Amino acid sequence: MEGWKRFIQDQRIAYFSMEIGLKAEIPTYSGGLGVLAGDTIKSAADLKIPMIAVTLLHRKGYFEQHFTADGWQLEKDVNWLPEKHMQLLPTRTLVTIEGRDVKIQAWLYNLKSPTGGELPVLFLDTDIPGNHPDDCSLTDHLYGGGLEMRLKQEIILGIGGARILRALNFTIKKYHLNEGHASLLTTELLNNARIPVEDTWDERSSWDTHRVMEQCVFTTHTPVAAGHDRFPYAMAERILPPEVPIKLLKELTGQEELNMTLLALNLSNFINGVAKRHGEISQNLFPGFEIHAITNGIHPFTWCSPFFVTLFDKYLPGWANEPELLVRVDNIPDDAVWDSHCGAKALFFQYVKEQTGKTLDPELLTIGFARRAATYKRGDLIFSNLERLLKIGAGKLQFVFGGKAHPRDEGGKQVIQRIIQQADKLRGKIELVYLENYNMDTASRFIPGVDIWLNNPMRPLEASGTSGMKAALNGVPNFSVLDGWWIEGHIEGVTGWSIGPPPAEIDQEVGRANEDLEDMYRKLEKVILPLYFNDRKGWVQVMKNAIGKNAYYFNTHVMMRRYVTDAYIH
Ligand SMILES: *Cc1c(COP(=O)(O)O)cnc(C)c1O
Repeated sequence: MEGWKRFIQDQRIAYFSMEIGLKAEIPTYSGGLGVLAGDTIKSAADLKIPMIAVTLLHRKGYFEQHFTADGWQLEKDVNWLPEKHMQLLPTRTLVTIEGRDVKIQAWLYNLKSPTGGELPVLFLDTDIPGNHPDDCSLTDHLYGGGLEMRLKQEIILGIGGARILRALNFTIKKYHLNEGHASLLTTELLNNARIPVEDTWDERSSWDTHRVMEQCVFTTHTPVAAGHDRFPYAMAERILPPEVPIKLLKELTGQEELNMTLLALNLSNFINGVAKRHGEISQNLFPGFEIHAITNGIHPFTWCSPFFVTLFDKYLPGWANEPELLVRVDNIPDDAVWDSHCGAKALFFQYVKEQTGKTLDPELLTIGFARRAATYKRGDLIFSNLERLLKIGAGKLQFVFGGKAHPRDEGGKQVIQRIIQQADKLRGKIELVYLENYNMDTASRFIPGVDIWLNNPMRPLEASGTSGMKAALNGVPNFSVLDGWWIEGHIEGVTGWSIGPPPAEIDQEVGRANEDLEDMYRKLEKVILPLYFNDRKGWVQVMKNAIGKNAYYFNTHVMMRRYVTDAYIH
């Protein structure tokens, strides 16, 4: 029972994230941010990097997605049992929220790597007898409720998380704030580092901000100012614990609103964006700070279909813990790559049949698109001109879609509905399936099981994107707008294909839908479909390049080594 105490012997890096996606059965993630967090700590465990992760329990998950007959999204709570996966620790901590003491407990999940590495993950939980009923539900829903709920959850994560680590006697060398949700952690560190000064009117001088900066690493994920968490001070002052130095926060982040990104930027020595382009965008948004770039990755073993695991094990043994070996993919015979792909495709089509009753044709070029249904991702763009699409693709291609819209995102739900309604208009000519309840489990079957991975967000809103990396690992080439990681991974016609104009000047206007659409149709018709149907050898070479020129590099093993050398050991 006390086995967990061995974890407190090493100095650790504490990784704080509002969402962590380890597996579908632990539904504490909504999309790319959480899956990235999970992949990050899995690679850390594989590489035996001394780390501990902190997140919230989200007892009712994000939500389970269903559709009405006319394609409108419905949400259902997920009821999962933490005790099936993790162990409740006996130590509790306390934080004052809106004037009430809230007890916080932590569940320990022990992440075990096949390499022997182990990494503790703490899931914070306020559902404790003695807490006010309203406070018991604070850790129920990921991104549930409104702005006040968001602030309370951030208090639990940042301040509660820092306190529980202290209560459990962990020695923390660095705190890694994954997005601004964890920024309040810095206020707890400020309090711990307070220099006693008598009767000072100068707030800044009595706080050892330098000590806190040395401890903090901040990764920003949001490429637009409007996307960053901000709270009016009237709300913040009412809800935050009294020991939070509001006056100092105002000095650091401005008098108007409590801006969580600015708070983290001001109190972290190392700051990074999640792709080279996103680093530049963030540097432009926040000119007063030095912003680095460490491009996101995916955890190789998690996202490799069983067919490619077998293939890579045979030809590139050791690839899972040394994904750089994938650079030698050209040593694998073409037929073996194609057969593995056909296996993954057949398995996925079987799954589609079970879930929807629809039969997909394995001979057709299958286009996959699945990610959070945020409007900027423009899931329905390809249907803007149905007549043209039918002319290009009838009898040659089919679509599989997936992805959830945030419960309060009406626009996102409308995108889903529009996509589902295309199925009727295309019936008999182009098959279209929208899978319900996209999650890590469906993603791991879905992405390897299509022929090409489509992504057409509005530039520059895709900070990195990671699903395309999962595709590349399984030999599924990307067909994507040049944004996020794809700017670094794309070689036209070699690793996949671009959509729309190249990334030029930094304040390029958002959108360019018509240019994107035209390019998408043109390439599908003139380049992609002919290659797929008439030049299988050429197609397999692109598949191999996706593996050897994308997947060998865009993975969390490579990414974690960068975090260690650039951010953690200084
Ligand atoms: C990888 C993944 C994402 C991220 O997809 P993007 O295309 O990078 O936005 C979202 N949801 C799930 C379930 C994933 O596995």
